[in-house]
Amino acid sequence: MEVRTRFAPSPTGFMHLGGVRTALYNYLFAKKMGGKFILRIEDTDQVRLVEGATDVIYDTLRGCGMQWDEGPDVGGPCGPYVQSERKDLYMPYALQLVASGHAYYCFCTEEELKARRDAAQARGEVFKYDKHCLNLPKEEVERRIKEGQPYVIRMNCPTEGESSYHDAVYGDMIFPNDTLDDMVLIKADGMPTYNFANVIDDHLMGITHVMRGAEYLSSTPKYNLLYDAFGWEQPKYVHLPTVMRDSTHKLSKRDGDAYYSDFIDKGYLTEALINYLALVGWNPGDDREFFTMDELIEAFDVNRLNKAPGIFDVDKLTWFNAEYIRRLSSEDYLKLAEPWFDKVLHGKNMDYARLAELMHDRTEVFCRIPDMIRFLAEMPEYSVDLYTHKKMKSNPEVARSSLALCLPVLEGIPESEWTEQVIHDRVMAAIADAGLKNGAVLWPLRIAISGMASTPGGAMEIAYLLGREETLRRVRAGQAMLENA
Ligand code: GLU
Repeated sequence: MEVRTRFAPSPTGFMHLGGVRTALYNYLFAKKMGGKFILRIEDTDQVRLVEGATDVIYDTLRGCGMQWDEGPDVGGPCGPYVQSERKDLYMPYALQLVASGHAYYCFCTEEELKARRDAAQARGEVFKYDKHCLNLPKEEVERRIKEGQPYVIRMNCPTEGESSYHDAVYGDMIFPNDTLDDMVLIKADGMPTYNFANVIDDHLMGITHVMRGAEYLSSTPKYNLLYDAFGWEQPKYVHLPTVMRDSTHKLSKRDGDAYYSDFIDKGYLTEALINYLALVGWNPGDDREFFTMDELIEAFDVNRLNKAPGIFDVDKLTWFNAEYIRRLSSEDYLKLAEPWFDKVLHGKNMDYARLAELMHDRTEVFCRIPDMIRFLAEMPEYSVDLYTHKKMKSNPEVARSSLALCLPVLEGIPESEWTEQVIHDRVMAAIADAGLKNGAVLWPLRIAISGMASTPGGAMEIAYLLGREETLRRVRAGQAMLENA
């Protein structure tokens, strides 16, 4: 039997990280088993439609390297793969259920339902549809439909006994049937509900394994009743625990940590994100941590999915990301870093390739670059205390003579010779001639031209990047500051 999995997102305009992980596990399992990964767009809730939302889904999945074998835009034998394009297909199935007594027409209006819901609430009960329209005489139903009264078609759930099924992650699930609600299958506008279309499509598309968020655990008995009513084989179920920020909070869009795009926009690498997401809810059974997509496919095992909620730890992700950045080639790093350099250095004539070399190993996430290099664009305000450094044997008084030593040396280097090597050789020679300790000169020099206790590169590198004119200006400004200290 060929394994067929599907990712069935509703187009909301964003891809939640939990959704990306669901897609990933579906993809990994299908590929591992030599099966098919199918993409289906569940857009029957026309009220919630967002323009361009399907592109967000396509771009995210493709960006992550999860190409679907069947789906909208690539087609396949079970198309169309967008539910709104299949809308005429569901009604005959609903009518089949009406005929067999597994479903019925319901004419209750919103107001009537609300009144009964309020009354139930007042009695302290949870409202579920009371089967009010279940036994309407056939003639009445026909008459009301003919008169054009709005109706929905509801599922007729059993009220006694219990329903059970096996879930690959959660084990045996048992639900008393009297908790099942007679859910709507076809809405008043003729469109199927998500709940109905999902079952019909999973069957018609030959889905063998339904892998989705744990929030569907309790609806699954109703889906199974539908499979049974049609005499169809139920798929295998693999429900996935929620992805959480910590033990009590879900990832939330308000905190800017819920969507795939939040992280990509901040300069996280897709490969790092996918690698880390795979481990939020699954483990390889050994202590391996780094996986390419192919390695994930190779290692993936449904039996190693966790039942406990997965904690999405941004610090851990950042650690992965830094490691992936470190492994980039210099060219790739420069290409990715350039837009972040531009954010603060735009218009400045600076050696980006050299800056990239200095920044490469220090970059954990690209969005942190601007703060780290802003001093190159603009001298920050800084405290004279920075000149004091015990180990470097520097203090404001030492700094005064160090800058006095450096300034003429730097002034003596013509613009055309302003390279790191020349700056280095001249400054080091001057330090040696004066019989001083390197730190006592280089620390104050670096402070004067950067205003920062910690910088990518040392005094020579920074002086080179800043250029002659700006370096001299900053050294003089440092002298002036120390004068008044
Ligand atoms: N459209 C549903 C969602 O986005 C899919 C649920 C399922 O995979 O069955 O949550």
